[in-house]
Amino acid sequence: MRIDLSKIFRYCPGCGAKGPKAHSKTKHITCGKCGFEYYHNVASAAGAIIEYGSKVLVTIRANEPKAGMLDFPGGFADYGEPIEETLAREIREELGIRIKNPRYLTSAPNIYVYKGITYATTDLFFACRIDEPKKIKPDKKEIASIEFFEPGRIPVNRLAFDSAKKAIRYYLKQRRQTR
Ligand SMILES: [Zn+2]
Repeated sequence: MRIDLSKIFRYCPGCGAKGPKAHSKTKHITCGKCGFEYYHNVASAAGAIIEYGSKVLVTIRANEPKAGMLDFPGGFADYGEPIEETLAREIREELGIRIKNPRYLTSAPNIYVYKGITYATTDLFFACRIDEPKKIKPDKKEIASIEFFEPGRIPVNRLAFDSAKKAIRYYLKQRRQTR
């Protein structure tokens, strides 16, 4: 996985000089004119596989990137925020419910392109169980609709992101092993 930083940073954010040197392998840029250095580091994000009975919740994305495709609820960590709180906050914001006792599943790298800028993320996935799906009120700004699927029947090729594909495969494998 490689991000071409020369496409993101056409000018030095420090002095405005054209074409700062992009070190895409070590994910930073340097400017020979003013000494500016910036690391385009990997961001953390949380994702949730929400279980109701034998099914799991899948959202249909309302927005770009990947509008209309399937996803799991979640999002980017805020500054200073433990990832468990990211998970709880995103679920509260996106679905209007509070979750209890999430259990860590797995992590997966992801690439997220937003308005022409490519971000690399590490997505941490958790599973949690809910009892009252009628309490869910999807935030229409982010979610077109929700659906519950038997996890083995999720159309994986319609999932928006590679990290979500990896997470559901991991979840299914774990589920087979614990039965
Ligand atoms: Zn500069």
